[in-house]
Amino acid sequence: MLVGNLSRTINLSFKLGLRQLRRMSSLPVPPPPSLAEGLKIPQKILAGPGPSNVSERVLQAHALPTIGHLHPEFCKVMDDIKAGTQYIFQTKNAMTLALSATGHAGMECVMTNMLEPGRTILIANNGIWGVRSKDMAERQGATVKEVTAETGSNFTLAELEAAVKEYKPDILFVTHGESSTGVVQPLEGIGAMCHANNCLFAVDTVASLGGVPLKADELDIDVIYTGSQKVLGVPPGTAPISFSQRAVDSFKSRTRKPTSFYLDLDWLGEYWNCWPDKGRIYHHTGPVNAMYALREGLAIVAEEGLENCWRRHRLCADRLHEGIQELGLEFFVADPDKRLPTVSTIMVPEGVKWNEVTAYCMKNDLVEIAGGLGPSAGKVWRIGVMGNNASIKVVNQVLDSFGRALASVGWKK
Ligand code: PMP
Repeated sequence: MLVGNLSRTINLSFKLGLRQLRRMSSLPVPPPPSLAEGLKIPQKILAGPGPSNVSERVLQAHALPTIGHLHPEFCKVMDDIKAGTQYIFQTKNAMTLALSATGHAGMECVMTNMLEPGRTILIANNGIWGVRSKDMAERQGATVKEVTAETGSNFTLAELEAAVKEYKPDILFVTHGESSTGVVQPLEGIGAMCHANNCLFAVDTVASLGGVPLKADELDIDVIYTGSQKVLGVPPGTAPISFSQRAVDSFKSRTRKPTSFYLDLDWLGEYWNCWPDKGRIYHHTGPVNAMYALREGLAIVAEEGLENCWRRHRLCADRLHEGIQELGLEFFVADPDKRLPTVSTIMVPEGVKWNEVTAYCMKNDLVEIAGGLGPSAGKVWRIGVMGNNASIKVVNQVLDSFGRALASVGWKK
């Protein structure tokens, strides 16, 4: 009976349309008129720092039928995601899974599981992700120390080692691809140095994973996470993450529960069937369709091969940088070796309004180019070339739009 009534109401609302229903409605909050308009989303070229464009194949995976989040077919999808995540991180960690949330949750997951009052974290802060991770760490009641680098630069191993020796942290947090400044952090030797000093090594790879060579186990990384929305070319909303045995042991030796239930590794590990001695249980309702999309994004990287994916991003960054120089512009990151291939930061010349240029690209070509963020706000443009967009054709399209936009505001080299 209830079902019958419900279906009649739905049929009626389709026939009448929201506008008429609104007129007939006696509810104090009527149906919003904006919902009566069709959903219209333009096709843009997303050449900012993320999200990047999503392929038809991933969108089709996302549109597959929703099934139960503990059905065997979905558990298989989760297992595929675990294996794919081990591949993209190059790790054999058993505690490997994907969070039902964006990149920020990866950061928060590190903090809530690895920290508690009495523990110390050292943040390598050279941009907005250093600022945000510090804020999250402080919320855990941990002791938070930081080491800073000049804006637009990265850290030497010696600088990080000196700070680790001085502060004796339980964990060092480093951002591999600082997307606010366009800086890449070399990771060689840091993990071994941390372990020699009884410290764990956590790395944010949201803006770099898949676009910059990285092998987590060889680099002795203890916690690593990324986001779906950049090189993986998957809609925002999922975040692969992995914990080494050292990190798991540190988690187990906590004196109190993590502050977050949603991001508690005990629960997440059970839901993703990562604990050797426990089975899979319900923690939260996994975003089933978002996970299909992530699974397919991982499959695409696996088919291409990680090394080819790294090479493709390098080639496209080189072409972009060449084009930027041809336009007579300068880079925010002076040293070419320190430039992040996935997100490039370009200085806004004197007398040019950065937002007039980005507005031109969007209005005329539906091309997204972003302004700065945090320490680079108002000073740079950020151009992201990631995932599907890492093709010479797209890079040339973006350069063409950017060049015409600069000419339109009177910029001459
Ligand atoms: N870390 C880095 C390096 C990032 O670039 C971003 C996203 N721009 C994040 C974390 C946060 O990711 P999200 O916006 O998906 O939460």
